[in-house]
Amino acid sequence: MISEVRSSALIQLREAAEFLRLDEGMHKLLSEPRRSLSVSVPLVRDNGNLEVFQGFRVQHNLARGPAKGGIRFHPAVNFDEVTALAMWMTWKCAVVGIPYGGAKGGIMLDPSKFSASELERVTRRYSSEILPFIGPDKDIPAPDVGTDEQTMAWIMDTYSVVAGYSVPGVVTGKPLSLGGTSGRAGATSRGVALATLELLKSHDVDSAGITVAVEGFGKVGALAALFLQEAGMRVIAVSDIDGGLYCSSGIDVRALMDEIASGLPSVSESSQGDYLGRSELIGMKVDVLIPAALEGSVTIDNVDLVQARFIVEGANGPVTPAADAILEERGVVVLPDILANAGGVVVSYLEWVQNLQSYSWSDMEVQLKLADVMQKAYKEVFELKQAEHLTFRRAAHVIGVGRVADAMLARGIFP
Ligand code: NAD
Repeated sequence: MISEVRSSALIQLREAAEFLRLDEGMHKLLSEPRRSLSVSVPLVRDNGNLEVFQGFRVQHNLARGPAKGGIRFHPAVNFDEVTALAMWMTWKCAVVGIPYGGAKGGIMLDPSKFSASELERVTRRYSSEILPFIGPDKDIPAPDVGTDEQTMAWIMDTYSVVAGYSVPGVVTGKPLSLGGTSGRAGATSRGVALATLELLKSHDVDSAGITVAVEGFGKVGALAALFLQEAGMRVIAVSDIDGGLYCSSGIDVRALMDEIASGLPSVSESSQGDYLGRSELIGMKVDVLIPAALEGSVTIDNVDLVQARFIVEGANGPVTPAADAILEERGVVVLPDILANAGGVVVSYLEWVQNLQSYSWSDMEVQLKLADVMQKAYKEVFELKQAEHLTFRRAAHVIGVGRVADAMLARGIFP
């Protein structure tokens, strides 16, 4: 039995394959990962105990270039989830027209339960286990849930020590001191904000004063909330794993980020507003809802609570296909993950290009290139959606899957 998240990815692929009239063999080929690696990662804890964790790296497709995708540290990581996320990465890179295939990796552990030196050891051992699989021309990891630029620095160092020389292009989302690019840390969120602005513009909605709720106040959610606030919108609710915060006149997102950086354990404990139950955020009366936590936030069980007119998927896979169908019927517009949160992989690509050329661009150059790619991709998806009367998700999948299938057909099947 496959899991709900993998089944969601396969349903979306099937719909695109039907629209594109892909032959059955090609559809089957695209349904399966190209390569998958499952590894056991031993760790000697600080107390001397030996523990073993399961890790994965899955490459879904390599037809358009090396594989690209994040590494997740989370207790719920499993093979099906990583496989679905790798498939979404393939379509995402194709939709925004960057020359990568899709990959994803992860370790089944809760990083908050480990010391920094334990995290370093487990990251380095995982890196050494997947080492033959990755490389700047093969597969380039990046941060995802539970990992950050420090994790990338450890992977880059482990890879480089084995190679015998520095290989900055093996990962993206690195610290600036190691060849990271300016603008990568906020890139996914900036992309979410750019996509939201395009979405409102194409629906003739003035963004000034628009109300927003953001689920997840991590790397993506917090800065997405900030950028939308800076664009003139009113962020009235945010949440994290421990609860939510509501303020009808608008949360000061920068101040909330400072509170969290200074040790406040959860947004729900801020004195800026009222406590909100974590699950209540999905049903907030707002114009734009941004799920930016994990998969499966809006499901058949809570979709009826949704009051937003627009949903912009900061997370990967936050709306299940069954919920998607109901939202479509109700006229709620959903901007899908593979377009809405592609800003991260776009700037990862820019970082990788700079690493390969041993050259660096200014923050302004990176931001202009990001805006260019996001706006072009949005326009292509919007035009197809309008011309063929599709949802945004179906149009984005048709473009992404179509580009990958074209590349595979051009290459042919070997031998
Ligand atoms: P993160 O670990 O930095 O943050 C995750 C946040 O979600 C945390 O605030 C956590 O407390 C919160 N959370 C977890 N479960 C929750 C729940 N049930 N309700 C409310 N909040 C909850 O992770 P991130 O990097 O911000 O990634 C978030 C999502 O965005 C993931 O789906 C990820 O795959 C996707 N994404 C990330 C990037 C990136 O560059 N980091 C790029 C594209 C997509």
